[in-house]
This record gives sequence, structure tokens and C-alpha cells, in this order.
Amino acid sequence: MIYFDNAATTTVDNEVIKSYSKAIVSYFGNTSSKHSLGQESEQIYLKAKKQIAKYLSPTKVSPEEIIITSGATESNNLAIKGYAKRYYKKGKHIITTKVEHPSVLEAMKSLEAEGFEVTYLDVSKEGISLEDLSKALREDTILVSIMAINNEVGAVYDIPSLAKLTKSKSNAAFHCDATQALLKVTQDLSDCDLISFSAHKLHGIKGSGLLVKRENIDLIPLFDGGGQEKGYRSGTCNLPATIALATTLRVASETLNERRNGATQIYNYLYDELSKIDEIEIVKPIDFSPFILNFVMKEHKASVVAEALSEKGIMVSTKSACSSKKLGGSYVLRAYNYDDKLSSNGIRLSFCGNESLEDAKIFIVTLKEILKSTRKDNDGY
Ligand code: PMP
Repeated sequence: MIYFDNAATTTVDNEVIKSYSKAIVSYFGNTSSKHSLGQESEQIYLKAKKQIAKYLSPTKVSPEEIIITSGATESNNLAIKGYAKRYYKKGKHIITTKVEHPSVLEAMKSLEAEGFEVTYLDVSKEGISLEDLSKALREDTILVSIMAINNEVGAVYDIPSLAKLTKSKSNAAFHCDATQALLKVTQDLSDCDLISFSAHKLHGIKGSGLLVKRENIDLIPLFDGGGQEKGYRSGTCNLPATIALATTLRVASETLNERRNGATQIYNYLYDELSKIDEIEIVKPIDFSPFILNFVMKEHKASVVAEALSEKGIMVSTKSACSSKKLGGSYVLRAYNYDDKLSSNGIRLSFCGNESLEDAKIFIVTLKEILKSTRKDNDGY
């Protein structure tokens, strides 16, 4: 199998498997229990959070600012709904972009249904315009939520500048969905008030993630319950997942350069080869992550090509896995000004950095064969 769908999820690293397997057997205690096993579990939990904070560098995070969650979907919902519901008396205006993950966009929709007003910023290959953000900020803006790297096209948005501008021009808090960015593309997110992340995008386990929440910020929790995580996330603490998350981030920081160089080599090779194919247009933002390469096809249906690749053992996405069950083209490609037809015909390749050049070569040969043999089908877009 050739797996080019690492933005959807990744394999689990062997060290993570080892630490998780050990933890689910050895550290089964409840961190809230008052007996010595519970106390010991609590100490291990705090130690794991300390390590997690350290590996989020260069972003400055203290262990007390980490809320362990089930992943970025929960973190995004907690950050956005939790903040809006806590501070609505200060204003009911929120700013985000047209290309956020559905866990952000759907949270925004549900706030709109409750009377909040949301401004959706445009994007372009240059990124997100500071001028647009500056114009959109108002006295009643309480929150700005912008992702660090787009999960469909790999665009890198300049979060340090966007967050700084938000802080200097308003009282709004800044949330960043850094799911595709952390320990892939180095960005200092220290000016962000809230940061979301999922472990399984970086060889960690599924159903595990975190929200960084600065100490001066309060949130209304999503769940009522036993008040774990200082009341922000009730439910028995997932100690094994937290230990595995610390291992995930340690391994990711130790392998960052190697993975990034590997991804860059694959990206460059595929970029050069795909550029030679007439009917393909590569979606290349000016500032991009080497871990994600998206291209649109002028004459072929993405679903047909992706299926044919899958039959040959090559896994790719036609759009993000979280949007793939929804009908229609990619709203992200549409935001980048691709028409209805092209935005229905995007293929996303995403890498972990350990791929071989041989795999990339096989991909190109197979893709060319499929493009030749698949019936050109312009109907039904
Ligand atoms: N945000 C982004 C940018 C993502 O790519 C994803 C995963 N597709 C998520 C949030 C949601 O992560 P999870 O499914 O692990 O909750």
C-alpha cells in the first residue's frame, strides 16, 4: 500500500504504542481518587502535561494551560462555544475564515443560530490579508479563530502576525486550530489565547488531543460532571492517552527535521512531475506546508481517479476526510476561486515525511495510466 493521506490520519509510532500499552496496564488508577494509587496517577498525569508543554516549543505553554481533550474537534468546540458563551455580554461578533475545518465552521453556525454574528474572511494564495482582518475587527468582536495550516491545500497562514494584530487593535481573544501545524511547520503561537491539536495527525493515538487555554481566560465547559481539568473538561482523566500524547510530541520533536526534509523531497518530486501533466493544475499557496499537496484536474472526476488509485493500493483524498461524506465540491477550493467543476475535482496528497521516492514514482506512473484509461467525463458536476 502507498499511503498519501496523512492529513486524515497517520500510523501510530512504535514508541507511542509501547508507552500507551504500558500505561493502560500499569497506570489504570483514577487521577481523582484520594487513595495512594489515585495520588500517584495524578502525579504521573501532571508529569506528562509538563512534558507536553515542553514539546510545544517554540510556543510558550505552561502545563497548567493544557486541557486534555478527545481531539481537535472537541478542542475547537470548547474554545469557540466555551468562549462565546462565557463572554457574550462583551459582544456577539466573531471573526473566522471561509476555509476552517468543519468543527470550527459548524460551531460558528450553531452560535449564529443563537444570535452571534460571524464574519468569514476571504483567503487567497497570498494567505489571509491583515488588512481584511483589521477592517473586520469591531468594538464588539470577542473572538478571532484562524487555523495555522489549511488541511486541504496546505496553506500556511501567518498566525503570529494575525494574532498580534488582533491583540493590538481589539480586546478579542485569538484561537488557532493548529492541528496540521504543530511539530510539522515551526510557528511561534505564543500570542494565541487558545490552541487546538489532535494527536493522531502526528503518529499518536486517535481520540486524543489538547486545548491550550491561557490562564487569564475562562470558558463555559461543554460537559457538566465531576469537574476534572479545573472544571473545563469533566470526565475521568485519560491518563494512558495523556502519557501517549507526551510520547507522541517527544518523538515528533526529535524527528521534526528528518520528517520535514523527507516531506519536502517528496513534495518537490511530485510537484515537478505533476506540473508536466497538462490537465493538472497544482494548488500552490505562496506559503505552504510540504506535508500537503493538492491538485485539480480539468478533465477527470476526482472521485473516479481516487477510486482507481485505491484499487491499485494508493490511498489519497478527494477532499478532507471530515468533509468527504458531504455532497458537492470542496468549499476550500471554492474559497481559492476554483469554479464548481474544478473544486469538485481536487486530489489531496498528504505525507508524513517517511515516504520513499520510489513510492512517489509509482504514484506518478499509476496516475498517468489512470488518466489515460479513465473516460473523460464532463457530466454530472
Ligand atoms: N482541524 C483540522 C485542521 C483538521 O485537519 C482536523 C482533522 N481532519 C480536525 C480539526 C479535527 O480533528 P479530529 O477529527 O481529530 O477531532
